[in-house]
Amino acid sequence: MTAAAFHDVLIVGAGHAGAQAAIALRQRGFDGSVALLGDEPWLPYERPPLSKEYLSGDKPFERMLLRPAAFWDARGIDVLLGRSVVAVDPAGHRVTTADGARVDYGTLIWATGGAPRRLTCAGHDLLGVHAVRTRADVDRLIAELPAAQRIVVIGGGYIGLEAAAVLTRLGKHVTLLEAQDRVLARVAGEPLSRFYEAEHRARGVDLRTGVAVSCIEGHDGAATGVRLADGEVLACQMVIVGIGIVPAVEPLLRAGAVGSNGVTVDACCRTSLPDVFAIGDCAAHANRFADGAEIRLESVQNANDQATTVAKYLTGSVEPYDAVPWFWSNQYDLKLQTVGLSAGHDETVLRGDPAEHSFSLIYLKAGRVVALDCVNRARDYVQGRALVAEGARVDPALLSDPAVALKELTDRRSTASTQP
Ligand code: NAP
Repeated sequence: MTAAAFHDVLIVGAGHAGAQAAIALRQRGFDGSVALLGDEPWLPYERPPLSKEYLSGDKPFERMLLRPAAFWDARGIDVLLGRSVVAVDPAGHRVTTADGARVDYGTLIWATGGAPRRLTCAGHDLLGVHAVRTRADVDRLIAELPAAQRIVVIGGGYIGLEAAAVLTRLGKHVTLLEAQDRVLARVAGEPLSRFYEAEHRARGVDLRTGVAVSCIEGHDGAATGVRLADGEVLACQMVIVGIGIVPAVEPLLRAGAVGSNGVTVDACCRTSLPDVFAIGDCAAHANRFADGAEIRLESVQNANDQATTVAKYLTGSVEPYDAVPWFWSNQYDLKLQTVGLSAGHDETVLRGDPAEHSFSLIYLKAGRVVALDCVNRARDYVQGRALVAEGARVDPALLSDPAVALKELTDRRSTASTQP
């Protein structure tokens, strides 16, 4: 039997989180062996453009690489592509890949993200039904675009809305179906949902909320339409499914790690298994900005910041993860920037004018600022971060007054708090 390869740090998952963990380890002077193992055949790349500029053809893949190929070699980071881990032996500090190879580790960093949630109805596996999670997903979709004029997008989250925006711009007839009674229901307040619904409709998207898909209809193995629960059939040549992700943690949970929806980690991203950390979309952690509730954050910010937390820990600097969450989404000429988590808010304040496509929605909970959704309003986003970070109590009348910069409100507060 051949000996298993050994790495001081084995990172499983070569997305934003995994790549950043390797980068941060080297930046912090870690000189042990580091391997980055990914199941896709490409070097680590940015995922956000997949549903935006890559789909539209405005950004070539080469410009999405997180680092050029030479970077990994130069830093002595072993990048192992096209390999997926199917089993973890925590006692033996060993993983097994789908091709039967064994890899031993000193420390394991699990950064596998998630797989797109699939529809379970009849026809979910027909040709022409697409997910948007990897380069391969989007390449397949792009290859079929010339033959698709009518496209049904299922799911009104970021993926669905961003894809709808690009495809509408490309001249396609897009119908978007959301199961809930508004788009972005889990991540934004109702006024923001209604704004985006109106913007999509104004550009020709047939956007429907509160609809249930009954099945995908097909002919000769290819999708020809989407049947709704009320019997209506929407004829189409392509279906895009953006109904969330399922965290890829099966091998870890089977190995005994605590978790269910993701793997549970502590403030330093340690799982319940010895020398096993988890970061990024798959890591369920208690988050201060969610009142300490255990949540998963599916964002580039969280991937990068948790990766840095682990790299610091492994290089002797224990700093619990406590980053302010932020997100962004580009649709048409609308740049949405979000800071904080709005879930559970009990008050919203509008700042600016939605009709002018420049406004912020500020969320408060028990009088404290918990989040901002800023549309084409980068200054509010930048200046509002401090209000979220400190959970500031600010008079809503001041928040809503565009003549008062949010920065001024932070300054006023700190001046007041330093006065005797
Ligand atoms: P998502 O944000 O979870 O949104 C999916 C939406 O589809 C939810 O509103 C969901 O409702 C709805 N849905 C679920 N089942 C449905 C069904 N059968 N029919 C119609 N609607 C259904 O997920 P996503 O948009 O697919 O995005 C996937 C991942 O990519 C997420 O991690 C997301 O954060 C990330 N992403 C982020 C960005 C960004 O930050 N700009 C952009 C693209 C992608 P329920 O809530 O009831 O399930």
